[in-house]
Amino acid sequence: MTTQLETAYYPEIVLAVAGREVGPADRATSEILDPATEEVIGLVPHATAADLDDALTATEPAFRTWKRVSAFDRAALVHRAAGILRDRAERIAVAMVRENGKTKRDAVAEVLVSADLLDWLAEEARRSYGRVIPSRVEDGRVLVVQEPVGPVAAFTPWNAPALTLMRKVGPAIAAGCSVIAKASEETPATAVEIYLAFRDAGLPDGVFQLVFGEPDAISRHLLASAVIRKVSFTGSVRVGVHLTKLAADTMKRVTMELGGHGPVIVAEDADVDLAVRETASFKFRQTGQICAAPSRFFIHESLYAEFAAKFTAHARSVVVGNGLDEATTMGPLSNDRRLAAMEEFVADAVARGGTLLTGGQRIGTRGYFFEPTVIGDVTDDFDVMRSEIFGPIAPLARFTDLDDAIARANSSALGLTAFTFTENERTARRLSNEVEAGLVTVNTGGTSLPETPFGGVKLSGYGHEGGIEGLEAYMTRKLINQL
Ligand code: NAD
Repeated sequence: MTTQLETAYYPEIVLAVAGREVGPADRATSEILDPATEEVIGLVPHATAADLDDALTATEPAFRTWKRVSAFDRAALVHRAAGILRDRAERIAVAMVRENGKTKRDAVAEVLVSADLLDWLAEEARRSYGRVIPSRVEDGRVLVVQEPVGPVAAFTPWNAPALTLMRKVGPAIAAGCSVIAKASEETPATAVEIYLAFRDAGLPDGVFQLVFGEPDAISRHLLASAVIRKVSFTGSVRVGVHLTKLAADTMKRVTMELGGHGPVIVAEDADVDLAVRETASFKFRQTGQICAAPSRFFIHESLYAEFAAKFTAHARSVVVGNGLDEATTMGPLSNDRRLAAMEEFVADAVARGGTLLTGGQRIGTRGYFFEPTVIGDVTDDFDVMRSEIFGPIAPLARFTDLDDAIARANSSALGLTAFTFTENERTARRLSNEVEAGLVTVNTGGTSLPETPFGGVKLSGYGHEGGIEGLEAYMTRKLINQL
């Protein structure tokens, strides 16, 4: 097994600017760490200011050319890129595990979902119809047509490096935009593989450019340019607010997919086994580093003991290890920042009188492994209830009155996902109507699919990814009034 891990695939990281691919030998670099071993597995080249200027210069003519390619031909190319991703899913997944830590099974699934999203976008972009409005003038013609919005700047994080990038470059390219993406310097190989899939599918130079470097310097440089017409970001609220302010100076459109702190409400009449099954594996998937994950658990007091026992039993069954090991069901945290954050959450919870039902400790001293953790007897003043967790900790709180549970769920400034469990139709309607989130589920942990819109309310962000909304975010409407 060790030999297999040591020889595991990891590509050379390149910048892709103006039709050139530039490797680490020719630029300043930063190290890429394997979160399971803390070993350096590669170097990421940093774009210079001149590289960014070259990218901006190349993106405008690339956009003019690409938008003129018919929707039919664009769709064929996007389908080809999806096919290439499927063919290379194994190797991309290995690289993703090495830089991010998630299990190989999750990494393969993420690549395949990203390919499915591309196929869906390719088809949908062929159906971006306009409309005809009856003119008030005889022989007049009033049309509404959809056009690609223009060159896009996209910024993506490390937790789901394939899907978060694909939710931006996929619709941009399918709609006829050009895009300059800055993916996370911590997970650059997945982004390079996605770039290569489009390149090898025949995408013209300059339509998809990829850069890495110092995030703030890159975003300031790109967003100061009037050439960029749209900004899309997935990451923290703090950075999302900052980028939205920068985008406002030149009135760029924005899509902001920021954090979540998903409440789970298990009502008095819920099926406990179903609630545990639907939330427990989701909680620990990708080591809890999913913005859509269940995060704050409100359990009716009559079901609390049963739910806590069954949820804790699930947590204890999670097998923590290197994501490349087949037996592993949860890998390490992706970086040392998340490890420190988990230790602080647990210390605060214990100091406030929470009950550690399982876990609570770092595992070993090498690699960012942390135990699947369940904390009981939690109240709303605990840090773990007030800040996005983004890690494998499940805080369990009790409630007695449903109105109170809804108010507590809505007390967060975030509103991305919410999970509700009840066998009563009237309660289901109340919960889905009254809980403030971009997505409310009833009796399922299922979240979004390529064909469904995903986005948050309040500080969780602005706009949607996926669904027709995710494509329209890269299109603008033009009114044509002709006499
Ligand atoms: P962070 O705020 O430093 O960075 C978040 C992401 O934004 C990273 O990928 C980073 O490279 C990028 N970034 C940072 N500054 C930027 C800038 N000025 N311009 C452009 N991009 C920039 O935090 P972090 O430690 O990486 O993650 C911390 C928190 O971020 C997590 O706890 C979680 O709450 C949130 N997060 C959310 C998502 C999501 O899917 N919504 C993904 C990753 C992180």
